[in-house]
Amino acid sequence: MAEGRIQKALSGFYYVDTGAEVLTCRARGKFRKEGLSPLVGDRVTVRELGNGEGFVESILPRKNAFERPAVANIDQLVVIGSAAIPKTDPFLIDRIAAIAALKGCEVVVLLNKCDLDPAEELYRIYTAAGFPTLRISAETGEGLEKLIPLITGKLSAFTGNSGVGKSSLVNALAGENIMETSAIREDDDRGRHTTTHRQLLLLPNGAMVIDTPGMRALGMWDVSTGLGETFTDVEALLGQCRFRDCRHESEPGCAIQAAIENGTLSRERWENYQSLKREAKYSEDQSAYLREKQKRYKNIAKWSRQRKFEDGKR
Ligand code: GDP
Ligand code: ZN
Repeated sequence: MAEGRIQKALSGFYYVDTGAEVLTCRARGKFRKEGLSPLVGDRVTVRELGNGEGFVESILPRKNAFERPAVANIDQLVVIGSAAIPKTDPFLIDRIAAIAALKGCEVVVLLNKCDLDPAEELYRIYTAAGFPTLRISAETGEGLEKLIPLITGKLSAFTGNSGVGKSSLVNALAGENIMETSAIREDDDRGRHTTTHRQLLLLPNGAMVIDTPGMRALGMWDVSTGLGETFTDVEALLGQCRFRDCRHESEPGCAIQAAIENGTLSRERWENYQSLKREAKYSEDQSAYLREKQKRYKNIAKWSRQRKFEDGKR
């Protein structure tokens, strides 16, 4: 029995890196029966069959798991932003930080394209918020030496808005060896090149990066809770207003407004907190609405089957 990590999942095969070799494995049927499916990033035990093949026997306890993309055991979300085009909305970074808190991951904020714009404001906001924040350039290599110790030996998911430089950064970190990624490009039915599955890229320094299609989908994670953990500073202030029903607008003794005025809380951070709260509420309302709608559809379907049945009798 060997132990390893699932590096890649493709067409029912799992590629398990045991440290000594990469075994091509099938998963045991019992997983499907249990409604469990091995994920990229999973630590697993493998029964070896020889010829570099094996069976995934068990999945070791997960630190966390994500649905979109389907990956497990992510240590940190590396959010890439930029003050050059395309400019990153701090809201996106807060959103990802909220997801990270929810899933028990660390957050690293990278401000890329600093050769074009030093991203002073984003740098100030996220340093003050307590996240490791680096200004880098995937183009010139500036700042990458500070990034390497932050990602070495960890499984990181790089995320950020489209065009911000995620692929460039991974390539810059990997040097030339990354072109292993070209192996995961496949033609789709229209003949375009698409990345159709996920895999872990092992960078030369021992850092692991999850490669999702375009590494973009990561921004789509659901954020409903986890806000409190990302905004401990804001939540601590909320309890300190003079009035319990304070709307934090112009009420006397408002701790939020006081903190904004004396500069301990940035207005932007407060606004992001409010937007995320609204978004969380919206997504809750939305799922309640969808559940309601589904129920109604089911009734309509039942009703129309009933009617067809009765029409048939006539
Ligand atoms: P992704 O969509 O986040 O993967 O972004 P890409 O890596 O595809 O980069 C988008 C564009 O920005 C490309 O034209 C890159 O060459 C450019 N780019 C990426 N990083 C930098 C950087 O640090 N400085 C500059 N000047 N351009 C960059
Ligand atoms: Zn208040």
